[in-house]
Amino acid sequence: MDRRWRRVVLKMSGEALASSASDETIDAAVVRRIANEIAAAKEELGTELAVVVGGGNIWRGTTGAGEGMDRATSDIMGMLATVINALALQDAIEREGQPTRVLSAIQMAEVCEPYIRRRAIRHLEKGRVVIFAAGMGNPYFTTDTPAALRAAEIEADALLKGTHSGVDGVYSADPRLDPKATRFDEIGFMEVVSHDLRVMDLTAITFCKDNDLPILVFDLMKPGNIRSALAGQEIGTLIR
Ligand code: UDP
Repeated sequence: MDRRWRRVVLKMSGEALASSASDETIDAAVVRRIANEIAAAKEELGTELAVVVGGGNIWRGTTGAGEGMDRATSDIMGMLATVINALALQDAIEREGQPTRVLSAIQMAEVCEPYIRRRAIRHLEKGRVVIFAAGMGNPYFTTDTPAALRAAEIEADALLKGTHSGVDGVYSADPRLDPKATRFDEIGFMEVVSHDLRVMDLTAITFCKDNDLPILVFDLMKPGNIRSALAGQEIGTLIR
């Protein structure tokens, strides 16, 4: 399969923006490095790039729900957290000279644009990076599923799932627990589901299967990997 895609959605967790060294929720140095890689890869390769960022470094719906909070309210807080991360990323990417637009699934006209599918596509065609914020605007989801949904909506060729936990693809078992675990170069959707290889939410994986959308799982934190992923190099694991 040709991995040099024309248009992709890059999914990263909010935790990727946090500091591993301090308790910083958003580490400016980390955001700058990711922004620099995105801008440089975009300029060199011209790939149309949309980003979905999570909010787990700030808030997760399950955190509040676990404390007895109303689940939907807690999830809305999580979606708002993704907007904070999206604005941090937009600021950093634009400081690298790459025009970037944030489109939110929850309307907040003073802060960013609303998500309108055709507008998102137009931004991409004009060479802007698009950041999809606020997930899909509905509670009871994580940002994996809206990442897959948006990828299908904008007719992306692939969903790139950047990991931040040090696990650089899909393994036969959790490599942090099992030293014998091996990494797959490629794996089928159904194998991921049937072996419960937890790389993404099941909802997102089955959605990608139904819509023929390959997922590349790769280590986002390794310098140079965003470019490698966009350039079609064989890193990580391709699920298809
Ligand atoms: N969320 C939601 N609907 C969505 C996307 C996100 O309710 O469509 C909420 C949910 O509570 C989730 C939180 O936003 O826990 C933050 O997103 P996520 O957990 O995916 O962040 P990540 O783990 O990727 O940083």
